Amino acid sequence: MPELNLVLLGPPGSGKGTQGERLQEDLRLPYYATGDILRAAVREGTELGRTAKEYMDRGDLVPDEVIVGAIAERIDSEEAADGFILDGFPRTVPQAEALAAKLDELGRGLTGVLLIDADDDEVMRRLGGRRTCVENGHVFHVDFNPPEREGVCDVDGGELVVRDDDKPEVIRHRLDQYHAKTEPLIEFYDHQSLLRRIDGAAAPDEVADELSRTLSTLKLEADEAI
Ligand SMILES: [Zn+2]
Repeated sequence: MPELNLVLLGPPGSGKGTQGERLQEDLRLPYYATGDILRAAVREGTELGRTAKEYMDRGDLVPDEVIVGAIAERIDSEEAADGFILDGFPRTVPQAEALAAKLDELGRGLTGVLLIDADDDEVMRRLGGRRTCVENGHVFHVDFNPPEREGVCDVDGGELVVRDDDKPEVIRHRLDQYHAKTEPLIEFYDHQSLLRRIDGAAAPDEVADELSRTLSTLKLEADEAI
């Protein structure tokens, strides 16, 4: 059976996380979110974990080669023998190049890069409409999941507020960062014919269906390449 080595890309609010969880269950492949990998390496006290911790303790960004090293440790293990799903990494072209070099060393390569796309207006609508309960963090949405009484949590009567992360100017900033850093990455993978675009603006079930069709095609192509 060919390996299925996947990268998930998409703007904040595209539903990438939700789809990633479903994929992980459907494909039974390990799901690596960068933050989790670094935290696990730190917890397990591996050499890379100790290096990463030094940067984190100083409040510095962990360098690409340390992150790639931590990811490679996981990829080069029995659990990822049939493939893996990477989420949150790579975010930039240099990171993608570092990842490609490391995979090459391991005699592996990416099967496909799945872009779950949503335009800025959709992202603003989805994230900007969230309301969070100050008491217990229950989450509502003004359009998709409105509370019975405006501004009041259905569960415990707590006040519903817009979290700092969901304020329009903050979402705008995250989108600007995404466009600046990740769009060159999309082109990078498109040039290598690895990119598959999925319309994230559709309903979650439809997005899941489209993902599953895309994966079937990728598997067929991988079979033929052997
Ligand atoms: Zn509540």
